[in-house]
Amino acid sequence: MLLEVKDLTVKYDQIAALKGISLQVEEGKLTTLLGSNGAGKSTLLKTVSGALKPAAGEILYMGSNIAKLTSHDIVKKGIVQCPEGRKVFPRQTVYENLKMGAFVRKDREIGEDIEKYYQQFPILKERRNQKAGLLSGGEQQMLAICRALMSRPKLLMLDEPSMGLAPIVVQEVFKMIRAIKESGTTILLIEQNAKQALKVADFGYIMEVGYITIGDDAKALLKSETVQKAYLGGA
Ligand code: ATP
Repeated sequence: MLLEVKDLTVKYDQIAALKGISLQVEEGKLTTLLGSNGAGKSTLLKTVSGALKPAAGEILYMGSNIAKLTSHDIVKKGIVQCPEGRKVFPRQTVYENLKMGAFVRKDREIGEDIEKYYQQFPILKERRNQKAGLLSGGEQQMLAICRALMSRPKLLMLDEPSMGLAPIVVQEVFKMIRAIKESGTTILLIEQNAKQALKVADFGYIMEVGYITIGDDAKALLKSETVQKAYLGGA
């Protein structure tokens, strides 16, 4: 396992948003975390990436507990979160956004990686000198994901990448996620779009108000009557 979360409790003041949850993310696989608003999904990602500190429990990454490390050290270890809401730096150019994504790297291949993403997403090349805030919602999401990839993460965490995008753009974003997975990067994906997420995932967890209620193969979850009723809009 690349990541193992064990009995994790996270509180905002005295109120627990995560109540002793456990989950695993297998190397090279895509694991998705589904659940309604307020279930605690974003809280989990923020805790893994070091922005929140747990009240109890362990976060094992390649076997060692990272729960007390700073966000910076966690990024250095290869865990990167692409935040909800397409948070690119709007006043920086597309190129500057990509370059910033590589802030923890010291190698000389940063330019080559940027060129690679320009090849894959020609619109980013076309707009490389434009301010990122001027891109469309879908393009900003694409840029946000490429920026996260610029650190060459071992574990990429995506927080609702399809949020607020038109259906055709959502398809593009899921195509991109599939390609990242096929390139070998391990992914932990939070989604409201349960059907799309389960189609691209290997494994899925369902969260409800601070607890994980179900964990299973994504294919089994797609077929499960309970999941269909609650998250896939009926049978
Ligand atoms: P959403 O999709 O709405 O973001 P979520 O599953 O990601 O849902 P969280 O954002 O992790 O859920 O929220 C879990 C619980 O923690 C909710 O009850 C929420 O109100 C609470 N919470 C989240 N952030 C804070 C905060 N900064 N201070 C206090 N409570 C918070």
